Amino acid sequence: MASFRTLDQAEAAGKTALVRVDFNVPMQDGRVTDDTRLRAALPTITKLRDMGAKVVLLAHFDRPKGERVPSMSLKPVVEPLAKLIGAPVRFGEDCIGEEAKAAIADTPAGGVCLLENLRFHKGEEKNDPAFAKALAELGDLYVNDAFSAAHRAHASTEGVAHLLPAYAGESMRRELEALDAALGNPQRPVLGIVGGSKVSTKLELLENLVAKLDRLAIGGGMANTFLHAQGHDVGGSLCEKDLADTARKIMDKAKAKGCELLLPVDVVVATEVKPGAEAVVRGLDGMGADEKILDAGPKSVERLIAAMDASKTLIWNGPLGVFEVPPFDKATVDAAKHAAQLAKAGKIVAVAGGGDTVSALHHAGVAGDFTFVSTAGGAFLEWMEGKALPGVEALKA
Ligand code: ADP
Ligand code: MG
Repeated sequence: MASFRTLDQAEAAGKTALVRVDFNVPMQDGRVTDDTRLRAALPTITKLRDMGAKVVLLAHFDRPKGERVPSMSLKPVVEPLAKLIGAPVRFGEDCIGEEAKAAIADTPAGGVCLLENLRFHKGEEKNDPAFAKALAELGDLYVNDAFSAAHRAHASTEGVAHLLPAYAGESMRRELEALDAALGNPQRPVLGIVGGSKVSTKLELLENLVAKLDRLAIGGGMANTFLHAQGHDVGGSLCEKDLADTARKIMDKAKAKGCELLLPVDVVVATEVKPGAEAVVRGLDGMGADEKILDAGPKSVERLIAAMDASKTLIWNGPLGVFEVPPFDKATVDAAKHAAQLAKAGKIVAVAGGGDTVSALHHAGVAGDFTFVSTAGGAFLEWMEGKALPGVEALKA
């Protein structure tokens, strides 16, 4: 991996550090209902405070689209954050200009100050150089700890990084290291699992992965498109028939690149997607017109588990079935439990990400046993697509 600058290289004593964090937390009636993202920022905040820096937090919340929208203020974050840190957190009513400067001036060395929603200014999402400069004026160094926002070239994720000495924060560093171990520079053999509903949302991802992985298991609704492309009748299943050619191209590319594709060899079908619906295990043929494939079958899972046992690295995005509706969660849960066991025993590096994938791993009760679970959503997917993330590029040494 082209290496990136970390806090260990930063000289922060007596300096003011601008730290881009992801505080886009779930909020209800002006109260933070889940502080996971606040806690994720603590290692960086603590490290900088211990180094003797003044910590100025930059964040966005929701989509105010360049307007000052009072209901999208970051102020409700101050109290829960101060509690977690165990020290007061000052608040700047604006993220640039005099109000920001006054709040920062009022913050002692080793203290913490949070500035108001970056997206109250149009310049943030436009990566306007003047806005980036106004941010840079507030500090001596810049730290990006928001991997989840790194796929966007905004002023606070990209522009400002070119105006100050720039470093990856601790969460950013951990995420980049995990992603590098999973796909950048993995121990081989490396197995991928891609599931989810549609091929169309994951074309670039599939194309990138078949070029890099030793094996790729395709599951979920998107596997139906591949089965259809191979000439199987998928009945009433979710299937993007217009993408049959694309699916064949991906299969050809896999072959050319030496990536073994694992498509389902059996499936679980039902006529209705409802909890406790009667689920029938079928081979790939003989589907009724009203039957839908809703999960991978037991033989497919067995083969996937054998592939995990034969791998040193696993990268996973997308559930294998409609995991929200039991019993169609079975393949996903069984596979997740096995991967977690291998990871816990140190036999495999297991990295997973994606909104529904994270929910599915929690549902299976094993998210904590994976080597790393990315909650970065869009940034994680773009990284899996092999794209350069502007917020990460700007931190490269
Ligand atoms: P992620 O958010 O982890 O990237 P996706 O959004 O691509 O994952 O896919 C998750 C969705 O795919 C889930 O809502 C799940 O119900 C759906 N899904 C999985 N298998 C099937 C299937 N066989 N038929 C229809 N939908 C499916
Ligand atoms: Mg999703």
